[in-house]
Amino acid sequence: MSVSLPFHDLTREDLRLWAVRHGFSSVHAGRLWRYVYLQRIQDWAKMTELPARFRAAAEAGLRFTSLPVAIETHSTDGFTRKYLLSLPDHHRIETVLMRYTGRVTACISSQVGCAMGCVFCATGQMGYLRHLTAGEIVAQALHVDDELRSAGAGEHLRNIVLMGMGEPLHNYDAVMRAVDILREPAGLAIGEKKITLSTVGVVPGIIRLADEKRTMHLAVSLHGATQAERAALVPAARKWPLEELMAACRYYIAKQQRKIFYEWTLIAGKNDQPDNAHAVGRLLHGQAAQVNLIPLNPTQGYDGTPTDREAAHRFQKILGEYGLPSTVRQRRGIDIAAGCGQLASAR
Ligand code: SAH
Ligand code: SF4
Repeated sequence: MSVSLPFHDLTREDLRLWAVRHGFSSVHAGRLWRYVYLQRIQDWAKMTELPARFRAAAEAGLRFTSLPVAIETHSTDGFTRKYLLSLPDHHRIETVLMRYTGRVTACISSQVGCAMGCVFCATGQMGYLRHLTAGEIVAQALHVDDELRSAGAGEHLRNIVLMGMGEPLHNYDAVMRAVDILREPAGLAIGEKKITLSTVGVVPGIIRLADEKRTMHLAVSLHGATQAERAALVPAARKWPLEELMAACRYYIAKQQRKIFYEWTLIAGKNDQPDNAHAVGRLLHGQAAQVNLIPLNPTQGYDGTPTDREAAHRFQKILGEYGLPSTVRQRRGIDIAAGCGQLASAR
């Protein structure tokens, strides 16, 4: 008995090879791909343009990944929708649809839980459960795009941020495979510059990414500008020290010829003081960098509080003195617990 393959794990080329291996033409594989990714048809009986023999083989040999919605919440301002999606093994992951700043973006997860243990992060507080497969990553984007399509406003998914649950560079191969599938022109066709991968600072992963032909935006979660301060918030910094991280980031910028976005979660009294801002300025001065300041979303397992708007702007002003552009991001989904991992861990 042959075991069925998860369809959404396959790139278009994999599907073509599957068809050829089973004695079918590449043309049929292309038609099946378009049924699934362009027309969103997953009912074999409705794929009437495919020969019955091909359909029967595909039905026996391939299976679709579906992630039913366990819980759906909408922010009161209407800009954020958060889905807790069920995996086949009954774990749950978060996927968020965000539509502020005039753009439609899906924030998707790469793992169930996370091994990196950042102290303020709800996902880190859960610990690591497992990697997601490429198909499970792709299915999250499909879910968001289906939601947009069914809303009927003519919108579709254009931007993806890998900033949900998990550390994407800890699940490198599945994430890259998913990126290839998401990019496929006869499919979701997510543009070259429309995917952002956020990492806690997995140095070997950043170097690998720097050497990739695949291009995407890179965001690096900094949170501390000295080794000791960073390691207190981000335990992974003990494995990949700040100095090595900065060397990897400079290598990435040089190889990819693109800037890095640094994320800085602002925690009142912890890393939001003028001294901290000056330290960031000195660390990143001269780099092709932008800093995204994100006031802390309080989580149950951490007793910090978010920085207020005034202190955030003071921080931002100091970064400007070092020639560093920055944004203060309001985490608008706070009323639906849209912080990383918060819905999954609040069950
Ligand atoms: N593991 C990756 C991507 C997922 S987390 C990473 O750490 O970069 C995405 C971003 O959300 C990171 O910058 C992370 O530090 C931030 N984050 C996590 N929990 C948060 C919280 N409670 N409040 C504010 N930002 C948080
Ligand atoms: Fe993992 Fe990112 Fe959360 Fe850190 S912030 S625990 S790396 S998901």
